[in-house]
Amino acid sequence: MNSLTQKTLVVMKPDAMERGLVGEIISRLERVGLKIVAAKLVKVDEELAIAHYPVTDEWLEGVGNKSLGDYQKFGLDPVQSIGTSNPKEIGHQIHKFNMEYLMEAPVLALVFEGNHAVELVRKLVGSTLPLLAAPGTIRGDFSNESAIVANADKRSIKNLVHASGEVAEANREITLWFPEFKAD
Ligand code: ADP
Ligand code: MG
Repeated sequence: MNSLTQKTLVVMKPDAMERGLVGEIISRLERVGLKIVAAKLVKVDEELAIAHYPVTDEWLEGVGNKSLGDYQKFGLDPVQSIGTSNPKEIGHQIHKFNMEYLMEAPVLALVFEGNHAVELVRKLVGSTLPLLAAPGTIRGDFSNESAIVANADKRSIKNLVHASGEVAEANREITLWFPEFKAD
């Protein structure tokens, strides 16, 4: 295994499971040469959901500000939609939505391995907000979700897949979801 061979965590979120898109998504990841090295169906409990989405001030403010940017772009009032214009408070609400979303129905968790696996998977998955995700990406091709639509419905953005954002995140998440999995 060379140093650029990486492992990354992919979770088929409840909307991918419900919509029957799991096979399509896996085949997109496999056809670039990534290999499945672990997989299991998981009914996520609160402990795993909290551990998967750790709350830091940076994340809360970042996600809150991303949402506020969307509201501004569309000339909408965040207070009317989500009850606050404070980025951190918006972040807390989104965090609660994320946990509920992950626990809503069983999800398929997988570890993919290959050259530049972390970056490669993120490229194929596309931008967090499907409205802004490029055509050809999983989120861009199979969803029309935006932060505003999700926030108005008081739920998480249904964007089909979770994929680790960085190598350190991948290592942490693989240990969390697959404690039995031994990295070689
Ligand atoms: P990514 O999944 O692309 O790594 P983040 O880690 O920033 O994105 O966010 C985690 C998840 O939180 C997203 O995949 C999405 O489901 C949800 N989410 C992010 N931003 C918002 C938002 N503004 N409103 C609702 N849900 C959001
Ligand atoms: Mg992320």
